Amino acid sequence: MIELRTPAEIEQMRPAGRFVAETLATLRADTRVGTNLMDIDRRAHDLIRRAGAVSCYIDYHPSFGAMPFGKVICTSINDGVLHGLPHDYALRDGDLVSLDFAVSIDGWVADSAVSFVVGTPRDEDLRLIDTTERALAAAIAAATTDHRIGDISATIAEISHGAGYSINTDFGGHGVGRVMHGDPHIPNDGKAGRGYPLREGLVIAIEPWLLETTDELVTDPDGWTLRAADGSRGSHSEHTIAITADGPIVLTDRSFLGVD
Ligand code: MG
Repeated sequence: MIELRTPAEIEQMRPAGRFVAETLATLRADTRVGTNLMDIDRRAHDLIRRAGAVSCYIDYHPSFGAMPFGKVICTSINDGVLHGLPHDYALRDGDLVSLDFAVSIDGWVADSAVSFVVGTPRDEDLRLIDTTERALAAAIAAATTDHRIGDISATIAEISHGAGYSINTDFGGHGVGRVMHGDPHIPNDGKAGRGYPLREGLVIAIEPWLLETTDELVTDPDGWTLRAADGSRGSHSEHTIAITADGPIVLTDRSFLGVD
């Protein structure tokens, strides 16, 4: 069921959005060559505790997960692109890191992801990340009340295909509210002008994710981490946004923090 939020409820969702933005900015700034993925999770856990937030991931156990996630952040490295389970691994020069983070505060969820390289980047990784970010920015700009969900999907697909990347549609954006994953589903590929009309009060996570040279995923033995089947690298960008009569509000916006 698709739920619409009042302007007052959207205001109540801001603290969770701001906390997720600040946490991703902090973790990104602190993540460098040599940082262990377990330390990123520990730091995130600490920040959650101090803020009185509630992790959406730690008890998360959907049908496709082998067991509850057990950590508070997804760390997907290189050919890992989604649902990366933090484990004992120290980042190496040139690693492509995707962090995906969701919590609730006062009962409202925010969900966001960022990708970046530690150490010396490869040009092809920067291009992959840049394309993912451009797709997200354009998709957010299309999230207005004169459009439909298909316009968001088509925008992501156009930019991704335009840069030569194919798209896997197994996972995409989703409604966000009291729980992390609600209706509607926001596919990363689709037809403009089709699907549910974007209404005032709709709060959604938009999350393009791209793989360099394949659209096929494989799951790690940990039961969670999803990797490119051909070992090519992946990038993931996500924001939680509220659609209003005055345009989209990016609840997890980090740009004012000046760190990305
Ligand atoms: Mg997410």
